[in-house]
Amino acid sequence: MKNKSTKNKYKIILLFILFFVPTFTILNSYLYPLVFHHSTQIVEDETKHPSTKVTALMLHSVCDIEGSVTIISEKKLENLLQYIVDNDLNTVSQKELLDYVYAGIDLPENPVVLTFDDGYYNNYTTVFPLLKKYHQKAIFFPIGISNGKDVYRNTDIEIYKHYGNKEIAEMMASGLIDFGSHTYDLHRVKKLEPNCDKVRISVLKLDNETEEEYKKAMQEDFKKFKDEFNNFADYDFVAFSYPLGEHDNLSEELVWQAGFKISFTVNEGYNYVKKGVPESLLCLNRINISEMSNFEEIFKK
Ligand SMILES: [Zn+2]
Repeated sequence: MKNKSTKNKYKIILLFILFFVPTFTILNSYLYPLVFHHSTQIVEDETKHPSTKVTALMLHSVCDIEGSVTIISEKKLENLLQYIVDNDLNTVSQKELLDYVYAGIDLPENPVVLTFDDGYYNNYTTVFPLLKKYHQKAIFFPIGISNGKDVYRNTDIEIYKHYGNKEIAEMMASGLIDFGSHTYDLHRVKKLEPNCDKVRISVLKLDNETEEEYKKAMQEDFKKFKDEFNNFADYDFVAFSYPLGEHDNLSEELVWQAGFKISFTVNEGYNYVKKGVPESLLCLNRINISEMSNFEEIFKK
């Protein structure tokens, strides 16, 4: 009897090992992702990919013309820079953003990105001296075809002057200003284009072109931008500002493939940039600064 009972015990243990353990293991492997993995992943995501709120501001021209939402006075810019200093906000460079995402190096507290689009000459004569005075950093986005020009594209239509290579070299050397691309010639002014319904006024694909033609046109524009700024061949143009803020999946992909690792739209909002997540530096939102902007409101915690 005793012998039989011991045999039965072994049978039960054997059955347990042969049947229950594999069944439990198999079931567990299916159930785990469903039951536990999701919540684990969220916790893991927060630990692995901490995020930081980054406030990007969009500015253009700084001069004393009233009544525009994209032009602010010198006084307003000085107030902004003073506000940044007084409230422990920290303007950051493109390298600091890349180091945070790609190398896990922490950003300073309350990071702010100052961006100036279009390459206006007053960015050199007015903005640059103020950035030096307040020791603040910014990213400037010139348009390749307007580099150093005061006429619209290849016309004789006079427009406000743009800074050129000489000014860029001086501003770059200061270590305060980064330069990104606002495209070579994909930022047209509709009212100055006689065939505005047929020309590309931003980076978007035209209805009457194939995807291949579109890709080729974009790649040519990227190349022309590089050629225009070949004085700065060693400089890494990694930031991109979408003209008019227009972008879609296809253009985003081409911009990424061209090597731009930080991109800005004109969508109003804040950003949560994540360590180890390159996409978190793409299509960043920006808050437009106008003469009416309330800094308390923008930077409320
Ligand atoms: Zn622009």
